[in-house]
Amino acid sequence: MEKKKEIVMSGIRPTGFLHLGNYFGAIRNYVKMQEEFECFFMVADLHSLTTHPDTKELKANVHRVLAENIACGLDPDKVAFYCQSHIHETAELYLYLNMMAYKGELEKTTTFKDKVRQNPENVNAGLLTYPVLQTADIILHRAKYVPVGKDQEQHLEMARTFANRFNHRYGDVFPEPQAFNYNQSLVKVPSLDGAGKMSKSENQMATLYLADNDDMIRKKVMKAKTDSGPTEKNTPKPDYIENIFLLMSLVCTPETIQRFEEDYNSCTIRYGDLKKQLAEDMVNFIAPIRNKVDAILQDEEGLKQIMQKGAEKANKSAAETMKQVRQAMGLNYF
Ligand code: ADP
Repeated sequence: MEKKKEIVMSGIRPTGFLHLGNYFGAIRNYVKMQEEFECFFMVADLHSLTTHPDTKELKANVHRVLAENIACGLDPDKVAFYCQSHIHETAELYLYLNMMAYKGELEKTTTFKDKVRQNPENVNAGLLTYPVLQTADIILHRAKYVPVGKDQEQHLEMARTFANRFNHRYGDVFPEPQAFNYNQSLVKVPSLDGAGKMSKSENQMATLYLADNDDMIRKKVMKAKTDSGPTEKNTPKPDYIENIFLLMSLVCTPETIQRFEEDYNSCTIRYGDLKKQLAEDMVNFIAPIRNKVDAILQDEEGLKQIMQKGAEKANKSAAETMKQVRQAMGLNYF
């Protein structure tokens, strides 16, 4: 008998163009995991409503996230690739989990505090319970692994807390979900200005998007923060230089990196040359993805079929879980 595959779940919000952080934090793992796990990958359109209530751009953004994931190698025939709002059981599980999530613990979440600071006039209950909805998405498929970037570590910890709390109160239904990255530690792709992470909506000139054209990529990389170089041999790198080396490690060859490491250590490094090299390697990495995205976006009917097929697979798994949940909670009266 074939061994049952372990279950994987993750999602990306359709709040703008995808960037290198999304690729190296999440999508790269999706593409690898689809070969060995049973995968559920989702466009988190409901989550986007917590910060982006205006839905005029939503459809275009959902299409873009679908196309960008597929262009990066995600195969809708191998995985369930679906839209969060198409799976209505998510809302039901979210409701039950909300009864087990406490205001105090939700208010302490770093992402909540950040978003309150960024947007003090829209502190809605959905924002506060964001990690509860995320837990519902994950445990709805009884997923064990969640490929995400480092910024999601705390949310995953909360997902484990809520899953355990449910199990403890009503009986064992859910496995404990774990954040996952193939290289053990989770990835944070830094922004080019050395202040924070690449992101869909903030810091756009310091973020490299999969949709950026070649000139834009070069322009952004050449503006990355550097200095006049080290004055003593073999000294530690300042943060912003460390960040540039981290970005190189994502797209440059080991020989290129070694050459610039040696130049750094011998104080002969020329940051202009380093950035030119990094810009060209970024162009070579991003351009083929960008061209594929443009082609996929032309085929609206194809995108619709992908969403329908994904929803069918996800709905089946959700229905099985919710049967167990209602039973465990004693919500089965006849
Ligand atoms: P964003 O923060 O850009 O809006 P999402 O919240 O939709 O992105 O996150 C989608 C996925 O991309 C998550 O798994 C998240 O951890 C990952 N991610 C986002 N930004 C980065 C980054 N700079 N480095 C690594 N992973 C990231």
